[in-house]
Amino acid sequence: LGGASRLYTEDDPLVILGSSSLKPTISNSSSAWLVQFYSSWCGHCIHYSSTWKVLAQDVKDWQDAIGVAVLDCAQEENFDVCRDYNIQFYPTFKVSVSTKQSFCVCSGADREVQSMRRLMVNILQNHTRQEWPQRCPSLEPYSSAELLPLLGQKSDHYTAVFVEEPDSYVGREVILDLLLYSGVQVKRALSSDLPLLDALKVTSFPSVYLLHPDGTHAHLHSEKKLRFFFSSLLRTLPGVQRRSSSAVAHVGAPSGKQDSEPWRDFNRSQVYTADLESALHYLLRVELASHSMLEGEKLKVFKDLVTLVSKLYPGGGSVVKLMETLSDWLLSLPLQRIPYQAVLDLVNNKMRIAGMFLGEELRWVGCQGSRPGLRGYPCSLWTLFHVLTVQHDAMPNALDNTGLEVEAAPVLQVMRSYIRTFFGCQECSRHFEQAVAAGIQEVKSAEQQIVWLWNQHNRVNARLAGSLSDDPLFPKVQWPSPSLCASCHEERNGVHEWNLDNVLHFLRHHYSASNLSPKYSL
Ligand code: FAD
Repeated sequence: LGGASRLYTEDDPLVILGSSSLKPTISNSSSAWLVQFYSSWCGHCIHYSSTWKVLAQDVKDWQDAIGVAVLDCAQEENFDVCRDYNIQFYPTFKVSVSTKQSFCVCSGADREVQSMRRLMVNILQNHTRQEWPQRCPSLEPYSSAELLPLLGQKSDHYTAVFVEEPDSYVGREVILDLLLYSGVQVKRALSSDLPLLDALKVTSFPSVYLLHPDGTHAHLHSEKKLRFFFSSLLRTLPGVQRRSSSAVAHVGAPSGKQDSEPWRDFNRSQVYTADLESALHYLLRVELASHSMLEGEKLKVFKDLVTLVSKLYPGGGSVVKLMETLSDWLLSLPLQRIPYQAVLDLVNNKMRIAGMFLGEELRWVGCQGSRPGLRGYPCSLWTLFHVLTVQHDAMPNALDNTGLEVEAAPVLQVMRSYIRTFFGCQECSRHFEQAVAAGIQEVKSAEQQIVWLWNQHNRVNARLAGSLSDDPLFPKVQWPSPSLCASCHEERNGVHEWNLDNVLHFLRHHYSASNLSPKYSL
């Protein structure tokens, strides 16, 4: 997370935005922008990146009307801008709809290339009615009254009359495909315009009727009635030329540090407080901070999380003091709604004065990735909750009188609510919610809680093994590996089996307070 993500590079046909380039790019632009706010730690975003690149390539020539961009909300320098734009889940798609830097959230039927492309067309069509963006040609259909007088007239360019069914997108896509080409204008007409069909003798749709510069006119024969065929035929007419895009000048410089964080040596058989602190840093200052107001269920989930961490976070120290103060403050407030900025102020300023601060930066150790964008926050969140399950088992009375002890599996219940309400990766929370809903009633004790979370984490590991979010240096294996815990593994009739007693014993040790290393911690 510390450096620029490699999910997208400057070689991709899109613009990589950052905190300093987002606003200037939008406000100085004569085109609209479709921006994907993503997070480089979100597995779904990693998978989706290939689709987004195909889309960007597919609509590259539309850039004078609408550009495609990305912004990585997991980069520290982008935290504030993602909060300003209220990005709560990844990926979030927004389209700039005016030069006043405002955005509309957009969603299509799905996020596949065709749906996103149609969404772009719809947005452009709606906004060109208000004569914006400046360089977008009209996507509205022309009428026979407007088109028929052009027949027989000489001109300095071709006019292609694209006749199609009203719900077809091909004509509008071809208009945009030809945006960067001079010498030809594409105008769209509808199959319902009977005088036009009569005059041009058009009987099938879509069809292109071509008006030549010398005043002659005829059907344009296309082998297949596909967007690609029509666009290529028009681009290769004699005298038609591609010009360079004017939008390129507005493209902001790629943002973010290009170099990675220095490597921190660590021992895989230990847990690092720097990772736990970074999890809380990210959670409090980034993930929660995108919710401007806490009320109702959100406020309850936040209070429960703070209570849980304040009671179970191991080792005392300034993190526990901070969480205790935060917890007391939250419980003492009779408010139904709390602006998140008040929480941030407390975390950032008042507590610092009292010497109870949380690290100022993310510092991954056991959770560092072999390259930026891998591991980091989700790794640290798993680690934090594993630690909390083990602490709950070690201190059975720690949650007394907190209201949380009434649950059979309080750590899992709080984790479940947190993941469902705040975790940025929606795919992850959907999967996790399904798993908890199906299995939590089986968990009746603190040790079953430890084992349930271990087992669920291994299921996720199995699902993600070999996926794009799998760090080659830290492959997703069934954990703990034999090198960490040989006695955890057995074989029965030639088939691998876990020794659950030894697994529990291992987890109790691995995630215990005594196995926490303060190395690299602040
Ligand atoms: P992680 O899986 O994050 O593990 C972190 C560390 O925990 C490991 O390095 C290891 O030391 C230890 N560990 C590993 N396995 C276990 C275990 N079984 N028990 C105890 N400790 C273990 N990503 C997706 O793409 N799709 C999803 O559906 C998804 N769901 C998620 C649900 C939750 C609740 C969370 C917190 C994350 C989810 N993620 C999902 C992210 C994904 O699980 C990883 O966290 C992320 O890919 C980073 O992987 P990692 O290699 O750092 O190891």
